[in-house]
Amino acid sequence: MVLENIRVVLVGTSHPGNIGGAARAMKNMGLSQLVLVDPQEFPSDEAVARASGATDILQGAQVVGALEEALVGCRLVLGTSARDRHIPWPMLEPRECGVTACEQARQGAQVALVFGREYAGLTNEELQRCHYHVHIPSDPAFSSLNLAAAVQVLAYEVRMAWLASEGQPIKQVSVAEEGDEPVMADELESFYRHLEQALVEIGFLDPLRPRHLMSRLRRLYGRSSVSRLEMNILRGILTETIKAARGEHHKREKADV
Ligand code: SAH
Repeated sequence: MVLENIRVVLVGTSHPGNIGGAARAMKNMGLSQLVLVDPQEFPSDEAVARASGATDILQGAQVVGALEEALVGCRLVLGTSARDRHIPWPMLEPRECGVTACEQARQGAQVALVFGREYAGLTNEELQRCHYHVHIPSDPAFSSLNLAAAVQVLAYEVRMAWLASEGQPIKQVSVAEEGDEPVMADELESFYRHLEQALVEIGFLDPLRPRHLMSRLRRLYGRSSVSRLEMNILRGILTETIKAARGEHHKREKADV
């Protein structure tokens, strides 16, 4: 089922009514997978009231403590934002977001649509966990939609793309070879931690003055759709780099002699 592969992730929602409104918007459009990251109040009667009948979605909602947990197993993560952020990120229009999410889901990939807090949106760190950012082109003078309304707009775009793709043959990106599949969001996170460690060890990254280095590297790797095989090579290089920085290679060479 294509639409079941697309999850809606609400981060740090403060008003339970918005959770109910989002569940209703989802159910209207055929989406069913709701993940709540650290909601302020849930379960809640207000959420049930606003869901007006979409209670099955609330009951089935998965509640987790951190965004990383909500993204386990996701190949594509789309983060929504009401405004521009510091570092420009690859952007998708809502329509392209619907098409891309649907295409990936049709190929069996798990996709996440991530929405932020009512008052503060998503943090830069959370946005940098996303492959793309999606902005609903609202009036710049009043750009922020109600959370459930934003869910409604993107759920509608997903539905339109899904209806258009029904009955169409599935486009295979390439002939899959073992290990050729793109890595999941959580594997990318472990890679970034490893990369950061290596960059600190070789003295390229000063943890006291990190600037935007990791953000820029996240953007670079995020748009490369790294495969599992390639990820293993990169991780291998990092492991050897750290060993070299610690002088462990030197010792091994000597031992070999
Ligand atoms: N004051 C916050 C607004 C958050 S609105 C801010 O400036 O970021 C709550 C959430 O609704 C956002 O995090 C986003 O997920 C969604 N949202 C609201 N307006 C949006 C827009 N124009 N485009 C995309 N998402 C939007």
